[in-house]
Amino acid sequence: MREGDTFARMGGDEFVAVFVDLQDKHDSVTLITRLLDVASRQVQLGDLKLNVSASVGVSFYPQPDEADADQLLRQADQAMYHAKLAGKNRYHLFDAEHDRNLRLRNETVERVRQALANQEFVLHYQPQVNLRAGKVIGVEALIRWQHPEKGLLPPGRFLPDIEGHEVSLALGEWVLETALQQVENWADAGLDLPVCVNVSAYQLQQPDFSARLATRLHSHPKVPRHHLELEVLETTALDELDSVADVIRECAAMGVGFALDDFGTGYSSLTYLKRLPAQVLKVDQSFVRDMLDDPEDLAIVEGVLGLARAFGRRVVAEGAETPAHCRLLVQIGCDLAQGYGIARPMPSAEVHTWVANWPPNPDWLASPHVQL
Ligand code: C2E
Ligand code: MG
Ligand code: MG
Repeated sequence: MREGDTFARMGGDEFVAVFVDLQDKHDSVTLITRLLDVASRQVQLGDLKLNVSASVGVSFYPQPDEADADQLLRQADQAMYHAKLAGKNRYHLFDAEHDRNLRLRNETVERVRQALANQEFVLHYQPQVNLRAGKVIGVEALIRWQHPEKGLLPPGRFLPDIEGHEVSLALGEWVLETALQQVENWADAGLDLPVCVNVSAYQLQQPDFSARLATRLHSHPKVPRHHLELEVLETTALDELDSVADVIRECAAMGVGFALDDFGTGYSSLTYLKRLPAQVLKVDQSFVRDMLDDPEDLAIVEGVLGLARAFGRRVVAEGAETPAHCRLLVQIGCDLAQGYGIARPMPSAEVHTWVANWPPNPDWLASPHVQL
């Protein structure tokens, strides 16, 4: 120990060392290795040669969040436990950043659970249209969190934090139920509108996924089966392609369609295309958005159209942000589209009026199909 450092016995075989004035974390490593070294020296007791080893857990102060002495001790204790598990006679540094992220994640999971109970989630709906025919073909349900303090939160603000957690399954079930109920309400109001629902890979890979879906559809007899389409992210690592393909087939047998979302952004797009019998490819919005000025993005969109033709799939372009995007899409033979240039996602109450008034002045209607 250096002058000014403190060494104390907490009880039993637990000791605490306090090192002050470290320039950076690495300074502590020298001191800690010295401690470990000293502790592991053999002790001669009469005829006996005794070997002990120490496990050291380290926490640092200051931290991003204020921490008191008790917390520092708890963190060090937790880190020591890691060191023990990792094989003893070693040290482990407590990672405040990691711990903070973990805590935030747990908080979000807990808040989402409450929010579900408090009915703070809503679905907005974004129209999908056939540009050439000037027809609305359906809507995509997109979740929002009407947070009491933070306002309306987009899914990117909370879905990643609950990914793979059991609460995400409950939320996924809520989305399906709400969307089906909405289709039924629209049907009652004389509006015949298919809905696309995003499902997470985790949800899709639950062993009882199609059975639960069947039960759910059963409780909505007024919803035609082909009025439901499920979208799964092409970028998510679907570990079991074969079982996912089975689920897609089981859903198809019920009349429920599938789309590969954000198509083209994953590293195994072609494998997915070949192995997953999804009827629709949603070409990712990044390609569509930039295709007006980036010939490579345009080439990708055309490439996906060609692949879809060859494999007998339909293409829906996401991210048609302006009338110019819509015009070009029609010209290259991509008639189905979704994007801000057509409509932004809207609350369910606005959908009926929107559908009744679309298209306003379709200058892309009957655009010639050109070979670029
Ligand atoms: P996504 O399924 O690819 O949905 C399209 C996203 O692009 C939506 O964002 C939509 O608002 C946005 N968008 C639509 N048109 C345009 C456009 O022209 N330009 C631009 N820049 N963006 C456009 P949102 O609602 O924030 O959703 C983001 C993602 O969150 C969705 O991407 C989907 O992956 C996920 N998500 C949304 N709702 C659900 C849900 O209920 N369950 C699950 N598992 N995921 C969901
Ligand atoms: Mg989607
Ligand atoms: Mg997408």
